[in-house]
Amino acid sequence: MQIIHPVADMTHWSREVIASGKTIALVPTMGYFHEGHLSLMRLAGRLADLVVVSLFVNSLQFGPNEDLSRYPRDLEMDEGMAANTGVDILFVPSDNDMYAPDFDSLVRVGGITNTLCGEKRPGHFEGVSTVVAKLFNIIRPHYAVFGQKDFQQLSVIRKMVQDLNWDIEIVSHPIVREDDGLAMSSRNTYLSIEERRKALCLYESIRHAKARVAEGITDAGRLKSEIQDIISANSGVSIDYISVVDKDTLSDMEIIDSQSVLALAVRVGATRLIDNCMLGNNSAASN
Ligand code: AMP
Repeated sequence: MQIIHPVADMTHWSREVIASGKTIALVPTMGYFHEGHLSLMRLAGRLADLVVVSLFVNSLQFGPNEDLSRYPRDLEMDEGMAANTGVDILFVPSDNDMYAPDFDSLVRVGGITNTLCGEKRPGHFEGVSTVVAKLFNIIRPHYAVFGQKDFQQLSVIRKMVQDLNWDIEIVSHPIVREDDGLAMSSRNTYLSIEERRKALCLYESIRHAKARVAEGITDAGRLKSEIQDIISANSGVSIDYISVVDKDTLSDMEIIDSQSVLALAVRVGATRLIDNCMLGNNSAASN
């Protein structure tokens, strides 16, 4: 595995690879790898001749009171894990190289960013779509792999690629969970033992929702209120949102059907965690 830091070197490498007729799959990340990231990398390896993983803690997607300064980092560990997973290039650009002092452009996706995390984290998705747009232009991948854990982010990237005519296939990977059901996240490292236990209320909610839908419940309001009870039973856990939305438009749904997604965001102590699942008939096929 080769590690590339300068943006210009990354561009040079990718142009040579493309000219040689080989395909590239990109996995954008913020590092501090876990099995979720590694699963995306393996999927990328099955899609294309060469796998590029970008590792960049993107300041532009963090709000002023968010966790940018304490976001977990361990480049040495990440290098070892990526190398063992068959990654060809680990692209680790510097802040200055990505955002020159006079950097002054943003990519903004409309409607679907006005809800869920976009509503709770103003500017977050502009930061995400801008950095992903830059990565797409630097690397020009044929495929880009994103996790369903960040379900709204996946929708935003798909919309951006469609609206801006990028010839890139966006491929998604299901949520990878710990044995007890907690969705893997770099942010789980912030949790104390007690908080880690309370964070399981997210997966408990998802299991409850799937069971209730299997029983035939279609009233989204009722399901949300039951989930609110499950989460509120844990002191120190506050709810950012409990939503049932259409998987394509992300608009709120009152009646649950096969298009419905349950999306959850909570704060466990100071740590914000998200999770989601498909509801409806095909829920067994997703996690
Ligand atoms: P991050 O480093 O948190 O920005 O995540 C990089 C990519 O990994 C994103 O596409 C995430 O959706 C994906 N990802 C993070 N955690 C998981 C998980 N538990 N399962 C599947 N994908 C994940």
